[in-house]
Amino acid sequence: MNLLYQSTRSHAAPITASQAILKGLAEDGGLYVPESIPKLTLSLKELSTLTYQQAAYEVMKLYFTDFTEEELKSCIDNAYDEKFDTAEIAPVKEAGGLYYLELFHGSTIAFKDMALSILPHLLTTAAKKNNVTDEIVILTATSGDTGKAALAGFADVKGTRIIVFYPKDGVSPIQEKQMVTQKGDNAYVIGIEGNFDDAQNGVKAMFNNRQLAEDLKAKGYVFSSANSINIGRLVPQIVYYIYAYGNLLRKGVISEGEKINAAVPTGNFGNILAAFYAKQMGLPLDKLICASNENKVLFDFLETGIYNRKREFILTSSPSMDILISSNLERLIYLSSGKDSDKTLALMNSLTKEGEYEITKEMKGNITGVLGGYASESQTAELIKDLYEKEGYVIDTHTAVGASVYSRYKEKSQDANKAIIASTASPYKFTRSVMEAIDPKYGTMGDFELVDELSRISKVAVPAAIEEIRSAKVLHNRICRKDEMQKVVEEILK
Ligand SMILES: *Cc1c(COP(=O)(O)O)cnc(C)c1O
Repeated sequence: MNLLYQSTRSHAAPITASQAILKGLAEDGGLYVPESIPKLTLSLKELSTLTYQQAAYEVMKLYFTDFTEEELKSCIDNAYDEKFDTAEIAPVKEAGGLYYLELFHGSTIAFKDMALSILPHLLTTAAKKNNVTDEIVILTATSGDTGKAALAGFADVKGTRIIVFYPKDGVSPIQEKQMVTQKGDNAYVIGIEGNFDDAQNGVKAMFNNRQLAEDLKAKGYVFSSANSINIGRLVPQIVYYIYAYGNLLRKGVISEGEKINAAVPTGNFGNILAAFYAKQMGLPLDKLICASNENKVLFDFLETGIYNRKREFILTSSPSMDILISSNLERLIYLSSGKDSDKTLALMNSLTKEGEYEITKEMKGNITGVLGGYASESQTAELIKDLYEKEGYVIDTHTAVGASVYSRYKEKSQDANKAIIASTASPYKFTRSVMEAIDPKYGTMGDFELVDELSRISKVAVPAAIEEIRSAKVLHNRICRKDEMQKVVEEILK
């Protein structure tokens, strides 16, 4: 039986997984969700013996039911290969009593690689299955990491173009350098004068513009999304929670069925939603800790049931989490409403028009096991310094938000569960912030001097992704206003 996908915002007929992957966003502006969340079919013990690729197949076959075994395995083998610098793909490292799930061993050294290394393969396979002959145009808004990971995934992939918009002053120097040096005849990178929410709103507006879609269709183009609203990104992210549990079980850190917690540094709510799905599938996850930086809109929401984006947008040292509109929360809202698409639509309209919404007590009661927390800039820096000094382990600013929030939660609650911290980026991606947290004396050093110093103190080799950009040429320098995004896209696709 095929598992079908429906929009969170309407009663339109459900569609297949491959169609949902192709579309990205539903025409009514909603997000695609599976009609039901499938249960794991293997025991935890069996899962613990699998390689990453085998675990990926066991999860994805349950969701992408209209793909053949051969198609899925080919997508998986092409994604999780030597692009990753470890055969484990997502290793777990213990430090200071917490288990860091390192999701940054892919080609762009952030967790976005976990899903974006497979999405191009899922998408081109889905296009073939559905006899799509138009060129697929990937439109992406990025807070820094999605952009590069999507560029790396889609560069020179036949039948696709990739256009990335990033906030000109809202990403780290290394993140920007990684993007503007991207090669590939089908790749376009544009800085916008605005923040991530502006970029994301601009992209969503283009997706929802029927006239634009028709004009482009006439020229042989069709839009799709590499943002985490695409179900083709969400599902691959479920895999590593299951794999990590298996890893801890295999090592004897936990016993079969033992409940563990997971803390996830959160922006668009994609990564933690994947953990939520993993839990619904039967993985023994207990508390899911949604960790925010000073843009703590999700913390406030989880505390009060009121989502209010009308607040100052703060630029922090964890820029990939500088987000006030967390798109994937809509999928949790939908589930908490008992899959009520009318209710979800009303709430999302209220967010667009009024800048806020409030869920009912009943809905709030349905969001159990997801706790919010946030870390200030100084708490984040302090955690990086402490962990380095006590354990010699250097983590990035985003991961540090997760670890800081979790450490305080643990102290307050005395929760004895073991916990994994989603380690979402390599410290090399945010070298300056990381090094200045460790010692303010690093403030005077240049970006690449800092890279070498980080390697010296952490005893971790400089990743290839960083070596590459030391001398790479800048190939993209286009900048536009946030109201010019559509014009830029039309020019590119002329
Ligand atoms: C994207 C990103 C996040 C936030 O993940 P979401 O799925 O958007 O919640 C956290 N840390 C890093 C390093 C990221 O790139």
